[in-house]
Amino acid sequence: GARRIDGKAFAAGLRARVAGQVAAFHQQAGRVPGLAVVLVGEDPASQVYVRNKGRETVAAGMASFEHRLSADTPTATLLDLIARLNADDRVDGILVQLPLPKGVDEALVLAAIDPAKDVDGFHVVNAGRLALGQPGLVPCTPLGCLMLLEDTLGDLAGLEAVVIGRSAIVGKPMAQLLLSRHCTVTLAHSRTRDLPAVCRRADIVVAAVGRPELVRADWIKPGATVIDVGINRVSTPDGKTRLVGDVAFDDVEAVAGALTPVPGGVGPMTIACLLANTMQAAEARARTP
Ligand code: NAD
Repeated sequence: GARRIDGKAFAAGLRARVAGQVAAFHQQAGRVPGLAVVLVGEDPASQVYVRNKGRETVAAGMASFEHRLSADTPTATLLDLIARLNADDRVDGILVQLPLPKGVDEALVLAAIDPAKDVDGFHVVNAGRLALGQPGLVPCTPLGCLMLLEDTLGDLAGLEAVVIGRSAIVGKPMAQLLLSRHCTVTLAHSRTRDLPAVCRRADIVVAAVGRPELVRADWIKPGATVIDVGINRVSTPDGKTRLVGDVAFDDVEAVAGALTPVPGGVGPMTIACLLANTMQAAEARARTP
């Protein structure tokens, strides 16, 4: 059977390394890195994410600034807050929790964030830097996937990688990151013809689709490494619900060389990478005042 990639343990190690960097930064700079999180509206999942982010930020020794605004907040008010956070020296990272309520112009808000503080890596400047292979802030979830892959496989050069899903948040930056590590990258999506055959070529499969257990055992080349980004809540016969990924775990485990479980795989890496990005932003800002 496949080796289970323990994202929970890797994320705990990464958070501890960041906490060490925070302590060193504090000594040198005389202040701690700060992360501002903006939550608009009452989406229950977003509230949980924001609470967890705040808790982990403080646990790493950083300052956490939370801004909660009502769902009917005008775009102009949000842009005003972003401008204040951009100008605030205590704030190294700004994260606007998505999705924003329908009335808010999401593109305008994301574009207003100072790219140097854009710890989610969603600003066009950071997306552009990633596409051009220049240093910048990289979206947290694909960054976490890359770390798990390099920890599992070492050098990725020359490997065939298939990324399923082309979102701006996961699939596209994942493809760019794998390309930067010299993989031969295929970016598959809902219009891809014969996805199972495309996947069977892959040494690395990253599934970021949002379809419960889409990826089956016969899509996987024996020994391949499989990273499951999907988080899908499905109902069980006993009337309860459980979380499953985009990969049929039990079947794929018999064929793959290594794979991430859901939960406990990619999920815990996302917040750990957010802290790492905030640390990176703080260090970059300290170098260029
Ligand atoms: P999205 O809906 O923005 O994009 C999904 C992509 O999958 C699209 O590009 C679409 O073309 C493709 N797709 C849809 N159906 C397909 C099919 N049948 N075959 C092939 N491709 C298909 O989703 P997203 O934001 O990229 O998120 C994907 C999944 O990852 C979701 O389950 C989400 O909950 C999860 N996610 C997890 C984390 C984490 O921290 N672990 C972070 C972000 C997203």
